[in-house]
Amino acid sequence: MNKETLRKNLREIPDFPKPGILFYDVTTLFKNAECLQGLIDELYEMYKDKGITKVVGIESRGFILGGALAARLGAGFIMARKPGKLPAEVIEETYAKEYGTDTIQIHRDAIDENDVVLLHDDLLATGGTMAATHRLVKKCGAKQAYINFVIELKGLNGRKAFPEDVEVTTLLQL
Ligand code: AMP
Repeated sequence: MNKETLRKNLREIPDFPKPGILFYDVTTLFKNAECLQGLIDELYEMYKDKGITKVVGIESRGFILGGALAARLGAGFIMARKPGKLPAEVIEETYAKEYGTDTIQIHRDAIDENDVVLLHDDLLATGGTMAATHRLVKKCGAKQAYINFVIELKGLNGRKAFPEDVEVTTLLQL
């Protein structure tokens, strides 16, 4: 997927959800059929030989490509969600945000020691959400885990949030 095409189709919303935040809106990437297909194709090429058995998508923008990619890879799809959304027994991790904390959960039986997992979300900012989700996947005993984002905000140094031995890929660096 051409980076220029990605950049062109990504919408920027200043001061959303609060003043001072430049919000990168991936709905415009997903709305464009060519762009959506191009993203799925590129991610498939990157991960098709890794033996991925489960893709974990982070609520909620990570569900879109995560689900499509899981189907394409022939892997299962797991939802990582905010508290109170998953119906069965969960495990959770709490992480620091700019103000206060946040919690992310997956079903306790979602992943086991036979799984090679790809964690996916739309955007890497501080990395807090993904690092917590990665800890959950490790707690489940996953054999191996990879991390992917569509967009990386380089200035925030989010990669520092992950253990050094984890392979992290991003498609567009801003
Ligand atoms: P973080 O845990 O700081 O890496 O935040 C990542 C989560 O917040 C992702 O699920 C993103 O969708 C969302 N997010 C953070 N900053 C932005 C931004 N500037 N534009 C769009 N989404 C963002």
